[in-house]
Amino acid sequence: MGNRIAVISDIHANLEALQEVLTHIGNQSVDGVVCLGDIVGYNADPSACVNLCREWGVFCLMGNHDAAVCGKISLADFNDAALKAIQWTRIHLSKEDLLFLNRLPRFHREYDKYLLVHGSLIDPDRYIFFQEDVEKDFEEMLRTYPKNFIAFFGHTHQRKVYSYYRETVFSGMPEDFRLEPLKRYFINPGSVGQPRDHSPLASYLVFDEDERQITFHRVVYDVRKAAEKVMKAGLPRSLAERLYRGW
Ligand code: ZN
Repeated sequence: MGNRIAVISDIHANLEALQEVLTHIGNQSVDGVVCLGDIVGYNADPSACVNLCREWGVFCLMGNHDAAVCGKISLADFNDAALKAIQWTRIHLSKEDLLFLNRLPRFHREYDKYLLVHGSLIDPDRYIFFQEDVEKDFEEMLRTYPKNFIAFFGHTHQRKVYSYYRETVFSGMPEDFRLEPLKRYFINPGSVGQPRDHSPLASYLVFDEDERQITFHRVVYDVRKAAEKVMKAGLPRSLAERLYRGW
């Protein structure tokens, strides 16, 4: 994967956001791009987003929306709007797109360098929202992957940095920082296609392994265009509106 990577997550079929983020990444001299899952769901360009990820050679995990579209997990946990989008997405993907999604891994360990997961190490569909959620994940990291000190996760659509040292969890500010030796980390790059931290801007991060540096980025994109496509597709109106609010 190389020593300098861009970490993106939760694209959710938002082509306008993905294009701008990839263009931005193009100027960051990275060796590769990884995606923590949910290429599809919610927005109106699932096939184009799958294809753009393939063109760029993005290493992708399977998120819960990708899994649901492929019929791999139960639909019971999805809300009404998400469910409608999953059903809409199924009929707007080619056979090839579905095959691609179907083969994505739910978890990845890049040697001793880092772990990639959509939701949580305990269950890829579990949310890490609170300190007690991430405590269990640090314990799982220690138990199962003791040589790994860094994990990247998505699913909540919110930038986040948690660190762990001597059995204590710290909730850090999601801003640029240098990884300290002996500390363990769970880091969320935020969402490309449906940010939920009250900013409509697309979010991602760059991890430089040699410099041990995490740099967060926010990228302007044409929210109106993406939102209008959602409306035109007949997807729930709430999915268009939330893009403007970043929630
Ligand atoms: Zn998601």
